[in-house]
Amino acid sequence: MAETPPRADPTVTTAEIGGQDGLRVCVLGSGSTGNATWVASASTAVLIDAGLSGRRIRQRLEGIGAALDHVHGICVSHEHKDHVGSLRILHRRHGIPVYANAGTAEALARYPEWAQLSWNLFTTGQPFVIGDLTIKPFSVPHDAYDPVGFVVEHAGIRAGIVTDMGMATSLIREQLRACQLIVMESNHDEHLLQDCARPWSLKQRIRGRQGHLSNQAAADLLRDIAGPTVRQVWLAHLSADCNCPDLAVTSAQAALQACGQSHIQVAPTYADRASPVWHHTVTAQ
Ligand SMILES: [Zn+2]
Ligand SMILES: [Zn+2]
Repeated sequence: MAETPPRADPTVTTAEIGGQDGLRVCVLGSGSTGNATWVASASTAVLIDAGLSGRRIRQRLEGIGAALDHVHGICVSHEHKDHVGSLRILHRRHGIPVYANAGTAEALARYPEWAQLSWNLFTTGQPFVIGDLTIKPFSVPHDAYDPVGFVVEHAGIRAGIVTDMGMATSLIREQLRACQLIVMESNHDEHLLQDCARPWSLKQRIRGRQGHLSNQAAADLLRDIAGPTVRQVWLAHLSADCNCPDLAVTSAQAALQACGQSHIQVAPTYADRASPVWHHTVTAQ
């Protein structure tokens, strides 16, 4: 990066949360009922989305030895309810700054629940800083106003998080290829979606180029971006009735084996429990 990105919120305070260097990531929960991912350096922590209830987020943070009081910002990928459900309460009651692009902020302002939030606006494509984390939002195709994925970087360690996308683009591939950890959507199995009882119009929306990524499309994306940098892949936003963790993981692992990249670890994430904490240290580079 040629230039130092602008500091989006100069009021951010940093607090010691364990004293471990490097980058740590935990998917607190993922699925159509709610999404939230915690990303932290030793001194700064952010949430990517706040779609679980405030209580669940607090409990799951406590479960990994973290705390809401030490979350310095919530970065919102898009305005769908499963990504913003507890945004207002975390902002108002806990004073956590909220970050979004103008499109997402405007989309949420139409609803009374989110109308009075004090947004820190970022521009899609332009990195910004919270504490010692650099956050790069990039455009993704999804049926929302201005949806984004994020790469969060600290000391050269990068985590890429894209939970909702209808298709992979060259921009998404470029961003994720440079990450050690990737949290990416693997929403549905095509056959289970075909056979499930959902209305045809909803199936078409999910399958569409601005809908959700299938296991096969996720596997294809993984094959394209797998390389020496990527260490761990977490599959996210799995459909409860049109997917299962084994199917998603098997599909991704088969793609990686086929391209000689089976050293990359693949694991599912869940709606009802947090993932393990991924911790990548600076010295492991
Ligand atoms: Zn969405
Ligand atoms: Zn979603």
